[in-house]
Amino acid sequence: MIRRVDLRGRVAAGEVLNLQALVPRAVFDVEAALDVVRPICLDVRHRGLEAIREYGEKFDHVRVEDLRVPAEALKSALEELVPEVRSAFEEAIRRVREVSEDERGADVESQPAPGGRVTQRLVPVQRVGLYVPGGRAPLASSVVMNVVPAQVAGVPSLAVASPPQKEFGGLPHPTVLAVCAMLGIDEVYAMGGAQAIAGFAYGFEGCRKVNLITGPGNIYVVAAKRFLLGEVGIDSEAGPTEIAVLADDSANAAHVAADLISQAEHDPMAASVLVTPSETLAVAVEAELGVQVARTKHRERVAEALAGQQSAVVLVDDLEQGTAVVDAYAAEHLEIQTVDAEERAGLINNAGAIFVGGWSPVSLGDYCAGSNHVLPTAGCACHSSGLSVRSFLKAMHVVNYSREALQQVARHVVALAHAEDLPAHGSAVSVRFRDED
Ligand code: NAD
Repeated sequence: MIRRVDLRGRVAAGEVLNLQALVPRAVFDVEAALDVVRPICLDVRHRGLEAIREYGEKFDHVRVEDLRVPAEALKSALEELVPEVRSAFEEAIRRVREVSEDERGADVESQPAPGGRVTQRLVPVQRVGLYVPGGRAPLASSVVMNVVPAQVAGVPSLAVASPPQKEFGGLPHPTVLAVCAMLGIDEVYAMGGAQAIAGFAYGFEGCRKVNLITGPGNIYVVAAKRFLLGEVGIDSEAGPTEIAVLADDSANAAHVAADLISQAEHDPMAASVLVTPSETLAVAVEAELGVQVARTKHRERVAEALAGQQSAVVLVDDLEQGTAVVDAYAAEHLEIQTVDAEERAGLINNAGAIFVGGWSPVSLGDYCAGSNHVLPTAGCACHSSGLSVRSFLKAMHVVNYSREALQQVARHVVALAHAEDLPAHGSAVSVRFRDED
């Protein structure tokens, strides 16, 4: 069901690079997916709308003539949304909005010298394409996670893309449409995968090119984002889901197993990793997995993800080594279920998001914690952050010096310009004060 990796006695403390080689990681190769998506992206660049239609027909098995979702479809999807689900989305939106507002930050003005001001202005990206997955499951919650921080940032132009669904006549899933309508999004396209990312990046008939693309997706979505980086900005490589759980004997084995399964449910490529110094817990979780996988709805997908090379129960010497292992692994989601969970969380430098203690499961963060569920995968948490209001803001320095402030620093500018053999740089300052020589 799930393989074991026994690191006991094998890793000296602090061997971060070695740990990265030892911990399980998906064998999928974004390079291989790049070979698939490169021609798709270039085709969309050259043939636009018709190419997007054809790839939709090929991969989503439905041809859509007009990719733009009509306003009536958004309106009726919202009217038909089950009240219980609507109120759950309202609560999720409220929480994500509150966190986003708290995190937005403000412009910062500094005065490094009298009369010399440098202001950091936080400016929203002007047009953003938001991707909402819809291959295996319609991730309507990703509408919330993308749209709400973008709105709080003040992005003036937002467009959403989600794969066309054959059973809904080529429209994206109605729940995705309903949440777009709840949030006042009226520019929604029925397109998925690499063709959607390329459509946003290059623009096509009826859709203006965007400046930034955000949102999670499968390996093809990730590869397309990587290929198109530069043509557009991207948030991070938020690909097939990962959960790592660092746990000791204080953890509840049934809960840990349920959490591992909850993320394996996303994708056969999803990674579920338990890191523990407790062989007793490892055995109990393995037994629980056997029982719970058999009962879960998407058991085939879950079993494939758990049996994959990317998933494992990792036995370590102690919690210190376990902490080093999960830090090196840099999981998208890291749960810490140990006696000292809160303090241990403070030792972690690399994770997309950390879930502390037994009452903060990843599923809470997927929907209703107020945190964002669009998070870096495949080790990208070493250098990238999850989606937040900051992803939609650019920091722009505004420099405003008075005559006196420039004069006061002029000789330093001239000295540095000469040191770099760029005398014209110095002249651009000294020319302003020549009359006074
Ligand atoms: P998706 O919308 O990401 O992908 C579906 C699209 O993939 C289709 O529209 C199709 O165009 C394309 N596609 C499918 N097979 C293809 C092929 N052989 N060649 C080229 N293109 C192909 O939906 P999904 O597949 O359900 O994947 C959702 C993913 O999002 C999962 O891997 C899940 O783990 C991940 N996810 C990640 C995060 C995160 O923050 N990291 C959050 C939520 C979900």
